Amino acid sequence: MHPDVEKLLFSRADIDNKVHELGSIISRDYAGQDLLMVGILKGAAVFMADLIRAISIDVSIDFMALSSYGASSKSTGVVRILKDLDKSIQNRHVLIVEDIVDTGLTLTYLLKILKARNPAGVRICTMLDKPSRRKADVPVDYNGFTIPDHFVVGYGLDYNEKYRNLPEIYVLKEEIYRSK
Ligand code: 5GP
Repeated sequence: MHPDVEKLLFSRADIDNKVHELGSIISRDYAGQDLLMVGILKGAAVFMADLIRAISIDVSIDFMALSSYGASSKSTGVVRILKDLDKSIQNRHVLIVEDIVDTGLTLTYLLKILKARNPAGVRICTMLDKPSRRKADVPVDYNGFTIPDHFVVGYGLDYNEKYRNLPEIYVLKEEIYRSK
């Protein structure tokens, strides 16, 4: 285990099983529809790469990069678009792919922006959900795992751009993010 992590939360096998479960449900729900999956960079990049390969229907992908003002472990809800979608989403079925929903402020803001572009629909798929920290009521349509209020890293999730490459999901030692 990496010396900065406190414990393993989800193993490679836990993640693989969950990704395949989500992939089957999404493939079934969107059968016959024009599905566009939108990964939110950078955190969801790893999940997105696995999830699209667990989808058995035709799918297009795109990415958005958002930056929230404030410290890296906190969300302010004020979001800046660093990279926007390549094409119009008008009349398309959009599925946002996120790494984790925490306060829900980022996604509330993003939903508002995307809905204003008149898609056929917008849903949310997240690998992790921390409902105990919610400040805005955001509709999570597909969720991998619900977790308690821990700061987690790995499988795309970072702290100060570190740990994204860890293949499993871990709880970060408190002393690492409290010391900054
Ligand atoms: P929200 O607006 O829902 O509070 O923030 C969501 C974003 O905050 C996530 O996309 C992620 O970048 C970051 N975040 C929230 N909780 C965690 C966590 O436990 N670990 C990591 N690495 N990032 C988190």
